[in-house]
Amino acid sequence: MVPSHRRVALLGATGSIGRQSLEVLRREPDRFDLVAISGGEQLAELAAIQREFGVSWVGVKSPAHRERLALLVDESVEILVGDEGLRQLAQSADVVVNAVMGFAGLPVTIGALEAGVRLALANKESLIAGAPLVERARATPGAELVPVDSEHCAIYQCLVGASAQRGRPDVRRLLLTASGGPFRGMSSAQLQHVTREDALRHPTWSMGDKITVDSSTLMNKGLEVLEASALFGVEVARIDVVVHPQSVVHSMVEFVDGSILAQLSNPDMRLPIAYSLGLPERLDHRWGALDFSSGVELTFEAPDRSSFRALDLAYEAARLGGAAPAWLSAANEVAVDAFLARRIQWCDLVPLVATVMEHYESDELATLGALYENDATARRLATGNLPH
Ligand code: NDP
Ligand code: MG
Repeated sequence: MVPSHRRVALLGATGSIGRQSLEVLRREPDRFDLVAISGGEQLAELAAIQREFGVSWVGVKSPAHRERLALLVDESVEILVGDEGLRQLAQSADVVVNAVMGFAGLPVTIGALEAGVRLALANKESLIAGAPLVERARATPGAELVPVDSEHCAIYQCLVGASAQRGRPDVRRLLLTASGGPFRGMSSAQLQHVTREDALRHPTWSMGDKITVDSSTLMNKGLEVLEASALFGVEVARIDVVVHPQSVVHSMVEFVDGSILAQLSNPDMRLPIAYSLGLPERLDHRWGALDFSSGVELTFEAPDRSSFRALDLAYEAARLGGAAPAWLSAANEVAVDAFLARRIQWCDLVPLVATVMEHYESDELATLGALYENDATARRLATGNLPH
């Protein structure tokens, strides 16, 4: 039975996925009740969301943020702080949307799964970094992990529902589609000169800055290979990347008999968000609906792995296993931050991550403490390799 009113926690409510999730919730006031939100720096925005939806619990990053937010909301609103706050908020609802950016989303992922509720996961970094720990938390009775990332939501839909959660013997391979980003077709020589502005101009998707930069290096696709492996229990040797510039086929599953299933729609994140919230029902909004009468062209090509080295780095991190994906993701976060702050060039991004990975020391990642230590070590190494 679908509860008539599902309580939703939207963590990272002020970001790109957060705002699009709010659009879905606005259209479905009888189905969903937004009970908890969180944000980072945009406190006025966070207060406005609290007022519009009458949210009871709000999460912020630090005690200083709490003081500033308290001036903007009614005193009946409970404000929770930091990682522990995020963890508690993730246990306050029937469905938790993790729309936080980066490793900072880890307490949401672990908190929701350990509470035995549905986690609608946009935040890929927490899953990639903490895969063995997330796997353990997924065993909690009632815990359900539904991907919001468009490629993974496509694969989930192709595999259909609960059986999608674990490796199925009849799946031969997963085919992750990639738009190729703004620099598709460019040679290594041309890529030496691309700028921050060029990297932030994605051809098909409008997203937050970090993932937009990741899409320009194909690191996003590398991270998504790791994400798919962790989500669906398929080893990376059976996950291929296919460049598909139109971003209409969101990903595909090939079965052992050669049959391939795909999910198609116009690129619109409201569709996977609504799917992950409404499951097992589909919400009636036609987000992303295609009009074939106006002509839909679909083309596919292999990624250029010599100009875009991030893909190979991700496959190598998967081969190393343990904490290697956590190192890759942490080093990449530092690199992207530095690039957005104009401290390094676009062409320095992937080499910086590669340098950090050369120092990786094997760790099986048995505990949450070990994960935080590995994350800190990789960040320290990456920061140490930035220009002064
Ligand atoms: P944004 O940068 O637009 O939003 C991130 C959200 O997280 C904001 O609410 C931000 O707060 C908050 N936040 C940032 N840093 C912290 C922190 N240290 N502690 C707590 N909260 C923080 O990102 P996106 O919405 O683009 O992406 C969110 C996640 O979804 C990422 O993991 C991304 O990879 C994934 N994703 C995004 C897609 C998209 O279309 N955007 C598609 C597929 C996946 P504030 O803004 O107030 O500072
Ligand atoms: Mg994606």
